[in-house]
Amino acid sequence: MTCGYTADDFDGDAHVPPDEALARLAEGNRIYVEALDHHRDLSPERVRDLFENGQRPFATIVTCADSRVVPEHIFMAGLGEVFVIRVAGNVVGPTEAASVLYACEHLHTRLLLVLGHTHCGAIKAALDGEAGPLAPITERITAALGSERDPYRASVLNTEAAIDELRALPELAALEHAGRLMVRGAIYHTHCGVVDFL
Ligand SMILES: [Zn+2]
Repeated sequence: MTCGYTADDFDGDAHVPPDEALARLAEGNRIYVEALDHHRDLSPERVRDLFENGQRPFATIVTCADSRVVPEHIFMAGLGEVFVIRVAGNVVGPTEAASVLYACEHLHTRLLLVLGHTHCGAIKAALDGEAGPLAPITERITAALGSERDPYRASVLNTEAAIDELRALPELAALEHAGRLMVRGAIYHTHCGVVDFL
């Protein structure tokens, strides 16, 4: 198997080192983009194992609720492999932060990835000043973008703002400082499926 791990390795997924977690995501995205065969364990046995033995995700991912941006597909992850928090515009407020803390402190994922994407409707709404029902979200995005008008740069700035929000949490800062957590950003290209790791 090209991705370097087998279903039998899943028991070791808690505490996977962040570099290894990042490499696994990058390899999953390559398989996704190239549409190579890939075995993902979605079996009833895997469902039962996760129920009986608990989840052991190797990464926490904060991303947009956009139906085209599905981390489990983008990174070719099976059940129990990635802990995902999705909200329009991948903004981080108190509830998203609490979810991230749970994953990093309690489930011990050592990679935290904020995955923004191109052609994000929430960012477009913020850029156009047409918030509508997204107002609580576009307020955060607008603050993150400042005067930036380039759509790709806007995606990057919005992702970085979410990272800043997360790093402002003392618990996450302490984990990162202790070398127990790596926080990274990435951009998903909606038109082709490629992930740029920032
Ligand atoms: Zn979006």
